[in-house]
Amino acid sequence: MPSKKYEVIIGIEVHAQLATLSKMFCRCAVEADAPPNTKVCPVCLGLPGILPQTNKAAVELGIRAAQALGCKVKPESRWARKHYFSPDLPKGYQITQYEYPLATGGELELPGLGKKVRIRRLHLEEDAGKLTHTSRETLVDFNRCGIPLAEIVSEPDVRSPEEADAYLKELRQILRTVKASDAEMERGRFRCEPNISVRPLGQKELGVRSEIKNLNSFKAVREGIERAVADQIKWLEEGKEIVQTTYLWDEHKRELKPMRQKETAADYRYFPEPDLPPLILDIEWVDKIEKQLPELPAKKRSRLLEEGLTEQDIRILSAEPDWESYYLELLEKGMSVKEASTWLLNETRGILSARGEQITQFKVPVAQMASLITLLRGGKLSRPAAKELLAAMADSGKDAEVLIKEMDLGTVSDEGTLEETAKKVIAENPDVCEKYRKGKTNVIGFLLGQCMKELRGKADPESVRKFLKRFLD
Ligand SMILES: [Zn+2]
Repeated sequence: MPSKKYEVIIGIEVHAQLATLSKMFCRCAVEADAPPNTKVCPVCLGLPGILPQTNKAAVELGIRAAQALGCKVKPESRWARKHYFSPDLPKGYQITQYEYPLATGGELELPGLGKKVRIRRLHLEEDAGKLTHTSRETLVDFNRCGIPLAEIVSEPDVRSPEEADAYLKELRQILRTVKASDAEMERGRFRCEPNISVRPLGQKELGVRSEIKNLNSFKAVREGIERAVADQIKWLEEGKEIVQTTYLWDEHKRELKPMRQKETAADYRYFPEPDLPPLILDIEWVDKIEKQLPELPAKKRSRLLEEGLTEQDIRILSAEPDWESYYLELLEKGMSVKEASTWLLNETRGILSARGEQITQFKVPVAQMASLITLLRGGKLSRPAAKELLAAMADSGKDAEVLIKEMDLGTVSDEGTLEETAKKVIAENPDVCEKYRKGKTNVIGFLLGQCMKELRGKADPESVRKFLKRFLD
């Protein structure tokens, strides 16, 4: 990206679906897979005479998300109506928070980049329905109407597609860690809307913004931003006037399709929601929620660094949430940072990349990986055998214990056999033993190697060493 002459300024809005069982203002169930238009009621359909009521669970999840982002939760926030016309918005307006959001003023550190992005606000709102366009008609499903969302708005602190990527991955990880949202992107539960402007280096005022709506994958965010930046630079160079525009990203053609020229807030005719009282929070309740927050990703990472994880491993894990959750589950099962790094980030990564597979396709469950490591640790498996075993497990999906028998990989732990082997090797190498007794104790490595050869690698080297020493000393 040509960045010598221009500066790229990016702000990002995210809509995250809060993980409640029922909707924001009615008791309808939140069920993604329910048949269309079956999870609806007069409230979420906006029929006359209705009275919405706020879902306390949604507020709690919003508070949790806000606290995890370091935002200040407001003791009082208010609901507003945002008006616009769309066939998937039966009320003709969306209930949201406008001048008085739930929380403001947080920040998020981009892992590995040593940079912070400020969070302007987090507010609660309801989702609209869903339109499906076919070649002949447009279908509408109101099941999604009224599902609770947290809208999280960053300050324009992001400077590149890479930073946007890091910001969104970390934000998603935080929301998942505090269980505010499952943030599943492919299901539309973590939708990203970057706004991008470009200005000549040194210019004070901001350029005109291009907004991209509803991006549902990290790849789409990266490519969409790259496209918007390239377009804007081209227009600037051509001396063309840039008009503030909202775009949709066409993933197949890899281009931005103009959707509308941006409305201003006045176009939405915001006004206070007359059917809902202000949201007044019990401070003690808010404090209690904060005390119950789990360890957040940034803190977890610095702890793992102290426990011996390398910066590079941290970067891999924070860039790839699926690897990170597998890794953390291994630690929860009692594996050390070093063991988890060796067997997951080295061995497993190697196996999967050779097979062209993702960690989500890995056939070895965490518990099985943990038993492999435990067997190795206990000397019941040699290191080369453990590697062979892992490859076979990834291949077949069979349990470690089963494969060890099938492949005859277990170590010889019968003391008699180890003793005999040690004696035999000592007898066959009198000159080496002589050197050892004269003080060159490191030659024991050679003897150990001979023993392991005799045992076809299937012994715990430490046990063999013990016998060798006993007979030599
Ligand atoms: Zn409803």
